[in-house]
Amino acid sequence: MPVDKSQIKEFEKAVVDGIELTADWNRMFDQRVVFDYDPNGAMDKVTDIPGGESMGWCYQCGQCIPVCPVDIAGGDYGPLKIFRKLQQGIELLPDPDLWKCTTCMNCLRVCPKAVNMIEIMPATREAAVLDAKVPKELQDVFESTFEYGNPLGESPRKRADWVTETGSTVSTMKDLARPVDMLWFVGSYPSYHARGKDASRALAKVLNLLGADFGILGTEEKDDCDSFRLAGETGLFEEFAEYNIKTFKKYKVKKILLTDPHALNAFRKEYPKLGGDFEVIHYSTFLAPLMDKLDFKKKLNYKVTFHDPCYLGRHNGEFDAPRNVLKAIPGIDLIEMGRCRENSYCCGGGGGGMWLDGFMSDHVNERLSEKRVREAVETGADVLAVCCPYEVSRFEDAVKSTGNEGKLIVRDIVELMEEALG
Ligand code: SF4
Ligand code: SF4
Repeated sequence: MPVDKSQIKEFEKAVVDGIELTADWNRMFDQRVVFDYDPNGAMDKVTDIPGGESMGWCYQCGQCIPVCPVDIAGGDYGPLKIFRKLQQGIELLPDPDLWKCTTCMNCLRVCPKAVNMIEIMPATREAAVLDAKVPKELQDVFESTFEYGNPLGESPRKRADWVTETGSTVSTMKDLARPVDMLWFVGSYPSYHARGKDASRALAKVLNLLGADFGILGTEEKDDCDSFRLAGETGLFEEFAEYNIKTFKKYKVKKILLTDPHALNAFRKEYPKLGGDFEVIHYSTFLAPLMDKLDFKKKLNYKVTFHDPCYLGRHNGEFDAPRNVLKAIPGIDLIEMGRCRENSYCCGGGGGGMWLDGFMSDHVNERLSEKRVREAVETGADVLAVCCPYEVSRFEDAVKSTGNEGKLIVRDIVELMEEALG
């Protein structure tokens, strides 16, 4: 369409040191009107949702693609690619792209325009949840969490059974009937999953050796639900958050020790919005300055590489504490993977990915956990150390599926502490 130049406002003349900056020599092109387009409103359907606005800010620099773990695993993904599809009129809500993002935050870290997938994804997914357009495996987990208070579908009455099963010395707040220095919010996987319970037993032992004054909620605890919030189930998140906050207040809790970085994220950033303002600390941050108080009896002689959990590292800025814990264990030689700290790879479990393995297998060349295990093996490490309850089971499965059994073992950092304590 020809441009009606009379409609274009002329610049004022700008002269600096006798040079007219606004003269024609300094104009690359004639002034013109640039028309934006959104063929079927696909872009607006995302940017109009509160939280989805920043999708429209992308200026297509491409920085986000090489750091996106889903794209690296062959998922043809990243904010830029979603933006291009929206421009072409391909809607996000019914597209599998809506569920591929693990909310790992690596794209936001490098994006000059602050296109924020950590807000875009939950907001758009919430619209899909309200529209009943959720992958079935995720919907099943939403339902079992709603019914049982945990995503594993286990009986809520058995939530504290790990204490007797593992021979740990841990009291519930109900039994203690007094305020404690800190409440240990154990979490669902560390309460029910076989390998999660191993780490819980180890942490209970270390806390007792340190003489910590703590209690757990036991059967009164319910899932933190942060991953469900990120997967779009805001209603479930809020209901559980309100319940947990009420229970913390009932026991006059001031400080909360967290096993799970996802729970740490929820309690630190989301619970205050719902009236729950508590001091929160991840167990790695709690233990790191106390390592010299422990009497380690055994030298481990392991080459260890460490996987930064997205929700502890990038999301909450804690990179050093788990490394300091590992470095203080006698005999451990810590070696880093190429992708580590701020640029760490993602295990694939965040943002609902924990329950979307079947769905994701149709959209990537290899599971994200498998990619990460291969990176760990390349370092020559004997042990892949973790400090997030999602990771032990994900990486142990990936060690098997990539044929690395016998080459690499997966251990929580507190399990390594337990082994060295003898
Ligand atoms: S880094 Fe940001 S601005 Fe650049 S392409 Fe990706 S989303 Fe767009
Ligand atoms: S948050 Fe992570 S998984 Fe999602 S698009 Fe960004 S880099 Fe990819």
